[in-house]
Amino acid sequence: MHSIRIWFVDGLEEYMESFKDVFNAAFKFYFDEAFNVSYYRLDGVDRYLDSSGRINAKDLILDPPDKSEDGGHIDIFLVDRDIYLPGFTYVFAVTHPPLSRIVISLFRLLRKYSLVEFEDESVVKERLFKEVMHELGHLVGLDHCDNKLCVMAFSKNLKELDSKVPYPCEVCIEKLEKLSK
Ligand SMILES: [Zn+2]
Ligand SMILES: [Zn+2]
Repeated sequence: MHSIRIWFVDGLEEYMESFKDVFNAAFKFYFDEAFNVSYYRLDGVDRYLDSSGRINAKDLILDPPDKSEDGGHIDIFLVDRDIYLPGFTYVFAVTHPPLSRIVISLFRLLRKYSLVEFEDESVVKERLFKEVMHELGHLVGLDHCDNKLCVMAFSKNLKELDSKVPYPCEVCIEKLEKLSK
């Protein structure tokens, strides 16, 4: 049974109810019914901020705020600021498989389309689903895929993220089957 803890910052509280389905669908894909999920508030992210307000994803993943430190869980940290790694201006998400920790930034995923006044919830949910599918793929041992449509392809911007399908390609599915044996 996989114990999954989802940690979210204050600014994301209003979205969490609608994100639950997204997470559960991705967990079902990888873990079948063998998982339980709990939700927690993520406090103390200020100490990971750089001078331009971005979060250093490596610091957060290697040294998360106190309560999240006890092991045996898959921890997913959801933040509303941009996150970065050395060598990147921003990334959408980062996974550290040995520690079973994932950081996902909603900063860009929540970006509104310029022609509509309202946030398109289904677009945001689809983007988040792709990110969760991609990062969980890394967690269970998948690498990046050369197939641009595959959810395991690396996306350097929203356009690339939006053009992927939300599932792994046949080649990745085959790898997954080998990994689970
Ligand atoms: Zn990746
Ligand atoms: Zn693939």
